[in-house]
Amino acid sequence: ENFCEVGFSPSIMSCIAKLGFDKPTCIQSVVWPIALSGRDMVGIAQTGSGKTLAYMLPALVHIGHQPPIQRGDGPIALILAPTRELAQQIQQVAKDFEHATSTRNSCIFGGAPKGPQAQELQSGVELVIATPGRLIDFLESGRTNLSRCSYLVLDEADRMLDMGFEPQIRKIIKQVRPDRQTVMLSATWPTEVRSLAEDFFTDYVQINV
Ligand code: AMP
Repeated sequence: ENFCEVGFSPSIMSCIAKLGFDKPTCIQSVVWPIALSGRDMVGIAQTGSGKTLAYMLPALVHIGHQPPIQRGDGPIALILAPTRELAQQIQQVAKDFEHATSTRNSCIFGGAPKGPQAQELQSGVELVIATPGRLIDFLESGRTNLSRCSYLVLDEADRMLDMGFEPQIRKIIKQVRPDRQTVMLSATWPTEVRSLAEDFFTDYVQINV
């Protein structure tokens, strides 16, 4: 399989070429058609599988189909990750495509001053990558909202639950639009992860890579 069959825009295709990738990884070739069709998904996949690009490109395509956001609007797509390090790594992937897709992105995490992160959010960004604790803080203080958010990713879901983020994650999901598309990635499939999917996902497709 090659990238052309997926039907990404020429500008996304040229970014992929610049990154030097010549064919999709296994998870990418499975996730792209399903995620682009708008369905909820659970992918059981490890780091190194190419999972980030698997959910990122459909997120950017989704953003491109939405009305533009205004200053003060919350994000259209939200990616939750367990740690600052992972969140920043994910943002790097978003940055590779930001000019090609004209999407602004912002990374918010704890252990750093809130001011600059809040200012960036207020200016209006289409894509937010966040750790759960800092996002809850910003939601509760009204610095952002999820009333425009219609594409939600839970990356490394099992690790987020192991770290005790389950209450925060449930609280966050409840604030995302009910007509959202939800994509979850997890290295393992324990009961806690399964019950999250059962409580919040609509008729989801599960894939194992
Ligand atoms: P991830 O599992 O998302 O952390 O990605 C693991 C590594 O694979 C990263 O360094 C990516 O840049 C790289 N990668 C992602 N997609 C591809 C691809 N289609 N071909 C080659 N490398 C890729």
